[in-house]
Amino acid sequence: MNLAQLLVRTARIFPEAPAIFFGRRLVCNYRELAERAARIAGHLRNTLKLSPGDRVAVFMTNNPEYLEVLYGIWYAGLAAVPINAKLHAREAEFIVRDSGATALFVSSDLAAGLMNVSVEDSILRAVFIPGNSSYESLLRTEPIAQAEPSEPDDLAWLFYTSGTTGRPKGVMQSHFNLLAMTMCYFTDVDQVRQDDAIVYAAPMSHGAGLYNFPHVLMGARHVIPDSGGFDPEELVALAAHHRNVSMFAAPTMVKRLVEHVDAVHADATGFKTIVYGGGPMYVEDIRLALAVMGNRFAQIYGQGESPMTITALSKAHLTALDHPRHAERLASVGIAQSLVEVRVADEYGNTLPPDTVGEVMVKGTPVMKGYWNNPEATAQAIRDGWLLTGDMGSMDADGFLTLRDRSKDVIISGGSNIYPREVEEVLLLDPAVHEVSVVGRPDPEWGEVVVAFVSIHAGKQTSAQALDALCLEHIARFKRPKEYRFVDTLPKNNYGKVLKTALRKQLMEEEHEQTA
Ligand code: AMP
Repeated sequence: MNLAQLLVRTARIFPEAPAIFFGRRLVCNYRELAERAARIAGHLRNTLKLSPGDRVAVFMTNNPEYLEVLYGIWYAGLAAVPINAKLHAREAEFIVRDSGATALFVSSDLAAGLMNVSVEDSILRAVFIPGNSSYESLLRTEPIAQAEPSEPDDLAWLFYTSGTTGRPKGVMQSHFNLLAMTMCYFTDVDQVRQDDAIVYAAPMSHGAGLYNFPHVLMGARHVIPDSGGFDPEELVALAAHHRNVSMFAAPTMVKRLVEHVDAVHADATGFKTIVYGGGPMYVEDIRLALAVMGNRFAQIYGQGESPMTITALSKAHLTALDHPRHAERLASVGIAQSLVEVRVADEYGNTLPPDTVGEVMVKGTPVMKGYWNNPEATAQAIRDGWLLTGDMGSMDADGFLTLRDRSKDVIISGGSNIYPREVEEVLLLDPAVHEVSVVGRPDPEWGEVVVAFVSIHAGKQTSAQALDALCLEHIARFKRPKEYRFVDTLPKNNYGKVLKTALRKQLMEEEHEQTA
């Protein structure tokens, strides 16, 4: 089945239902959305003569045309290659070339930069700028095409990993993978009703965009913020206006939203479900979020290779205050989603007993087919059908998974493993601490020593001594940071994740300068 059928079906049942909003403004209903997608598809297939399986790159900011472009691509039996709009034009160019894209949709504000690094000599046959006059005239004149059938295994979404080490790799997701992900949303994350709305506050090229499927399927509303991204004040206003609003947010975004709602006593009742994930949510932060905004949160743990679908921590689990293991569960990422198996294994692939830390592995229908044109990387990532996530964690006897860190972030000091997350959780108990990231610095004596980068809330104070005392109270002595660096902000990537690689690099460079 082709993913485009989700839209075809909804457009038949609820043609007049509002589909896309730009801020508060209604842009189109489901009949119009499906029609525009079908005209784009017609152009790609009949005029450009693209063939099934061809890749079409989408280098666009969050905007009202995003979904019609994606569905147009699927409608035509082609595969979408989403490119994060915040990438440098050269990085985008790499993805266009590596994927062998034959057409490109690019937002007007990104087009000039991309043309400067020249995609002209690539195999692109056409570049479209959604919203401009030639695009709109194409949508007026192109006949409506029939949706092309797709096999379940056909490539639908070629997503490039953020590539903190080496070149980004293209993760191949099929129609079937994404349909499975959609079903997991209903079963494990949230129910969706037609009067719900999803707001895209995070890049649509990533997981946030994939959450369109459950909402298209149920004929719900899709809201693109005017800012195209994350602005707490705007989101609160949009939620109050549209009501029953869900969204996906990285934990750093949740934190900012909660701080805003708390500071101005905003009415948060317009939010239905805020799904958080993509990085660690600290216990203190989710406690505050629940206290300030109430039972409106659910967590997912996933990665590009099994998007949004490894585990989930439901609203019910988050709010079961009387459960004896509620505190542990708050710190966990929940239980395996319905269509995957999850286990924790040692370096030989043997399943470990409960509460033992090892690598998290996942198997099931949403797991990728492999990496694009990269059988070696695929063979390393998928062994005996299990995807090796690169995340370290432990599972309790009830099946709740608690993540420690990515294996490459684990600090080995004096032969002992130190999980940065554990130290970070303790430092965040100090009310003056706003954000923190703990990394290892190479050390001739210990192998590595622990360094904490700490940012402080405006108007509050703390000290290295106070933080050290907190650590002595909560964790083993050898895990305490040897050094505290007080900084204004922490470096983050385009999805709001703290870049430990940048912090480690900074420490390494300082080390080199001192020894030079
Ligand atoms: P990406 O492929 O860029 O989406 O990054 C996936 C990685 O983000 C995972 O392998 C985890 O290390 C991290 N991650 C995703 N969800 C969570 C979560 N709920 N809690 C902690 N880390 C997470």
